[in-house]
Amino acid sequence: WSAETIAVVTGANRGIGFEIAHQLALQGVTVVLTSREIAVGEESAKVLQEGGLKVVFHQLDVLDQESIDTFCAWIKENYGGIDILINNAGFNHNVGSENSVEFAEKVIKTNYNGTKNMVKAAIPLMKPNAAGARIVNVSSRLGRLNGRKNRISDDALRQQLEDGDSISEELIDATINKFLEQAKDGSWTDGGWPQNNTDYSLSKVAVNAYTRLVARELADRPEGEKIFINCYCPGWVKTAMTGWAGQVTPEEGADTAIWLSLLPDMRISGKFFAERREIHF
Ligand code: NDP
Repeated sequence: WSAETIAVVTGANRGIGFEIAHQLALQGVTVVLTSREIAVGEESAKVLQEGGLKVVFHQLDVLDQESIDTFCAWIKENYGGIDILINNAGFNHNVGSENSVEFAEKVIKTNYNGTKNMVKAAIPLMKPNAAGARIVNVSSRLGRLNGRKNRISDDALRQQLEDGDSISEELIDATINKFLEQAKDGSWTDGGWPQNNTDYSLSKVAVNAYTRLVARELADRPEGEKIFINCYCPGWVKTAMTGWAGQVTPEEGADTAIWLSLLPDMRISGKFFAERREIHF
């Protein structure tokens, strides 16, 4: 890894994304700090640039295909491609004990569809790299399939979503769409969905399942063109998303993303991590 290494971080104007950008830049790679709002993104990039770090800013809204296309064309033109992509951009409307699905569509679109949009756009741009190009999806333990408390109650559906060999985009989308329909007609409370942060938990179930699916699709790439894709939980982090009520700092929350991005002998793909250890989906 060197200044020639190009790392892209989504939603990096604040919180965990900003710290991921910061720590990657401290390791000497060139970081493209992106955010949907130009002014705040430029301001965040400036903070790191003033610290002497190689950080550039570009606008990127992970829900706006035009923004994604413009960003990808700019990356191709200026850097030839991407070595590391961190899908960090996310949204959660629930803070504390409230469990509202009022913003379910926005939550699921941002966390799952936003991640999917970026993975699809970035794969053709990932550079051939002896150490393997990397995609890291920032997920959450709330999206665990087999957590004791907060899980989908339908055993068969859980098994399908867990089976890395047969999982499909159609299955993930159908699961999400079923929930969104129930969120609209009010029947979601009896739908057997996770009971805690329901829409957010499901969005991360979807991110995790999608990570496994893409890992399977990428597995046959030849040596030198490998892309490793994994997801991780940053812990409960003191950011705007938690109302700064978390247990760990954004720096600590960013750590596993840096590790997954830069680990020299990484051969792992389609796995879920926390605190630098593999955890169960
Ligand atoms: P913040 O709310 O501080 O940051 C979220 C970031 O995502 C902001 O930069 C926000 O931009 C950006 N974002 C939202 N929508 C879009 C979009 N459409 N396009 C581009 N960027 C967007 O939250 P955190 O730093 O805590 O969260 C970062 C990630 O970590 C999320 O994926 C979250 O789910 C995950 N996570 C967080 C945990 C925690 O305890 N904090 C626990 C587990 C996972 P803007 O400023 O414009 O709104």
